Amino acid sequence: MNNAVPQKVIIVGGGFAGLNLAKKLANQDQYQVTLVDRNNYHFFPPLLYQVSTAFIESSNISYPFRRMFQGKSNLGFYMGGLLKINPESNTIETENGVLSYDHLVLAMGTETNFFGMENVSKKAMPMKTIDDAINMRNHILLKLEEAVRSSDPAEKEKLGNIVIAGGGPTGVEIAGMLAEMGRNIITKDYPSVKRFSGRIFLVDAGAKLLGPMSSKSQEEAYEVLNKLGVNIYLNTLVKDYVDEQVILANGNHINSSTLIWASGVIAKEAPGLPAAAITRGRRILVDEFNKVQGTSNIYAIGDQCMQLTDEKFPNGHPQLAQVAIQQGKLLAKNLLMLSAGKPLEPFRYHDKGSMAIIAKFKAVVDLPKKGFFKGFFAWIVWLFIHIIPIAGFRNKGKLAFNWFWSFITNDPTLRLIIRPDNKKS
Ligand SMILES: Cc1cc2nc3c(=O)[nH]c(=O)nc-3n(C[C@H](O)[C@H](O)[C@H](O)COP(=O)(O)OP(=O)(O)OC[C@H]3O[C@@H](n4cnc5c(N)ncnc54)[C@H](O)[C@@H]3O)c2cc1C
Repeated sequence: MNNAVPQKVIIVGGGFAGLNLAKKLANQDQYQVTLVDRNNYHFFPPLLYQVSTAFIESSNISYPFRRMFQGKSNLGFYMGGLLKINPESNTIETENGVLSYDHLVLAMGTETNFFGMENVSKKAMPMKTIDDAINMRNHILLKLEEAVRSSDPAEKEKLGNIVIAGGGPTGVEIAGMLAEMGRNIITKDYPSVKRFSGRIFLVDAGAKLLGPMSSKSQEEAYEVLNKLGVNIYLNTLVKDYVDEQVILANGNHINSSTLIWASGVIAKEAPGLPAAAITRGRRILVDEFNKVQGTSNIYAIGDQCMQLTDEKFPNGHPQLAQVAIQQGKLLAKNLLMLSAGKPLEPFRYHDKGSMAIIAKFKAVVDLPKKGFFKGFFAWIVWLFIHIIPIAGFRNKGKLAFNWFWSFITNDPTLRLIIRPDNKKS
């Protein structure tokens, strides 16, 4: 039993990094931990695209922090967005008040990067949060309703077209899911439609889809999406979005009422940190123990940080869930070492491979050391790997059931247009 006054640890951001740190510090009474987040729930970004395409429910991939912290006496939750860090007074300012800390951990992840394109930032649909996913689901369903009502063929086509900017895993996964939805659902839900005129366009500035993955994965993604009827435009940059026209840098344009933006991220802002600590992509420069450069008691973990000390990743780690999870867990261990006066362990990322689902029964898996497999087995592995980290046993069960039902029927019943800001009754 430790009778010393516990030190205050504030973690800002309860994503993969912050939550794993908090969970590992649970019941360690030398620390009183407060998790600060602008949402009252943790969620699982890799499955957002299935929420936005009405395949699973948002509650399948999210879980309230307060429920998770029940029975853990040294863990607390504070709802509020971070506004400013005051390193000189060891305090942070949030939307809802000021909090003081002995150790501060920043784990706010990233936000969508629109690369300064104002029209795109106002009109395109990002894919970063549960709110984004639900907005996208409503938008796509509303546009379909408008499309079936319209008698003007050009208008019908524009309302039915969907452009996805960004051919990384998120863009590929949404394109595959929307193409399947078009094939399996539209003719059943809208029997009056003989031939649906909407098309799906996947646009990427690079020469290949799935940029960070192996060339085998890239080729498989291209082939599968092509067969599903997705129009793939490579080496093509989206330049603007004006009057429901997606303007491409090569001078062409696509008429579309929907532009989905899956094309880049930038680290969340952390006002108050020394300017020298902010680097490429607004990421926060940290040492091998994730301590922020130029500070003595502030740490940054996950997507928000840039660590150049891991010899296998001299340009920084990829912004992936596994990096965030491993950094959160190691920081917890190091904070415990710190309080025990023991030496700290530097962070080394253990790459477990990467994967993407392309369509029903089709996925690609890149293993470390150049291993690769694809198809049905890869798809099963993808499902299995993505169900394990879902918070809450009941959520895992509900997700497994939803998947089973949706995949066998090809017709989940979640296509509800729910608009909380609609006051008409
Ligand atoms: C659509 C999508 C699909 C992805 N698919 C994969 C995948 O298949 N595999 C993979 O490895 N990675 C994937 N990623 C990346 C992965 O989700 C991230 O690498 C991971 O979430 C990073 O974890 P994090 O804890 O650093 O940040 P996040 O998980 O982004 O968590 C940040 C937390 O901070 C909170 N927050 C943000 N701003 C504030 C603020 N101002 N104040 C308070 N709280 C704040 C947020 O609410 C959130 O809870 C995907 C990402 C997206 C968006």
